[in-house]
Amino acid sequence: MNAPLTVVELARASHTGLVRGHNEDRFMATPPLIAVADGMGGAQAGEVAAATAVERLEALGGEVDAGALRGAVEDANRRIRAMAEANPAQAGMGTTLTAALIRDGHADLVHVGDSRAYLLRGGELRRLTEDHSLVAELVRRGELAPDEAERHPNRNVITRALGAEATIEVDQIGLDLQDGDVLLLCTDGLSAYVPEDEVRDIVATAPRLQQAADALVARANRAGGIDNTTVVLVRLGRVDPAALAATQAVPAVEATQPLPAQPPAGPGEERPRAAERAIRTVRVPASPRPAPPARVLERVDGRRSRRGPIAVGVAAALLLLAGGVVWIGSRTYFVEAAPDGTVRVSHGFPWSPAGVDLFEPWQGTGVAAADVRAADPGVLDRSARGQGEAVELAARLVWRFGVPDIEPLPAPASTEAVPRA
Ligand code: MN
Repeated sequence: MNAPLTVVELARASHTGLVRGHNEDRFMATPPLIAVADGMGGAQAGEVAAATAVERLEALGGEVDAGALRGAVEDANRRIRAMAEANPAQAGMGTTLTAALIRDGHADLVHVGDSRAYLLRGGELRRLTEDHSLVAELVRRGELAPDEAERHPNRNVITRALGAEATIEVDQIGLDLQDGDVLLLCTDGLSAYVPEDEVRDIVATAPRLQQAADALVARANRAGGIDNTTVVLVRLGRVDPAALAATQAVPAVEATQPLPAQPPAGPGEERPRAAERAIRTVRVPASPRPAPPARVLERVDGRRSRRGPIAVGVAAALLLLAGGVVWIGSRTYFVEAAPDGTVRVSHGFPWSPAGVDLFEPWQGTGVAAADVRAADPGVLDRSARGQGEAVELAARLVWRFGVPDIEPLPAPASTEAVPRA
């Protein structure tokens, strides 16, 4: 058959999961462009970032080439940063983006973050993208074995995201496609919780791609439904375009609307939400977290007086001063021993003048402070750090000393990567 190689089947699924309150993933499933984006940031800023990235790709329309696609990614990065600067509630927001332009038997992929693209060809599943994540970086440096990375408690700390830096480094991957190829884009809600051989089996055996998409999401939810899960799949084939139009093998899909969430947990079921949300906030190492320590503001409010304009002026000045303090404090992180004897990352000022705490705990690690002190007395010295540096140090401590109630990781015997068994 002489028909051109084209997308002959399309499927997508996006689900909130069983733990989070809402879905911060966005996707696009309108060939020639498909994409997934996994947003991060508090107060629903994550979904704003993810939607901004996807909407920017949608604006490209049908006439697009690899250069325009890359330009759109860079533009989306600028837009997300501009929005975050203009709106304090959105400061620090970011998103992954993995997109593929499929045209003329060729795929051009752009990729930032830890969402993934896979190719299923001849029953083999091949990962096309490299995760921009802390654990993937440790694996590349030979400091962590791949199977350790898969169960690492900080495996969702990412090192690149749209919105994190003024200039974004975008991976570009080109791929010649073949008849029967299936491309899968997914967020880490799938890849971090479902083993790749199961992903391969589900996609390879499903009679229709939409069944595969639904089964992948169901599988992620059976693994706990910890995160939002989004998948987009396309199959390539050679079909006479006229016949294709007649059979409508490619369903029309709304590009950005997530599918309706399945019913939430029943009234008697507890949603284990808090722990995972805490990890979520760690995900943009490079940008400051804006949330001001509420206690500082409360203290200033307490001094506000109604006795007259001078008192109001003094209160306003104090508020302004506190605002400056909060602003500086919001950019300062440190790693310290918490009163309960574990290591945590705190946020604000590392010292407590006259016994007043000007910081708030931000991220617990579960690592015993005594273990860390015994091995390395200087680590928990409350040195001020950037957010990314504090997160990386905390992640290294977790990796080195383990977390009893998660799963202890062995300390590395050497700097060589341990080969898979
Ligand atoms: Mn995710």
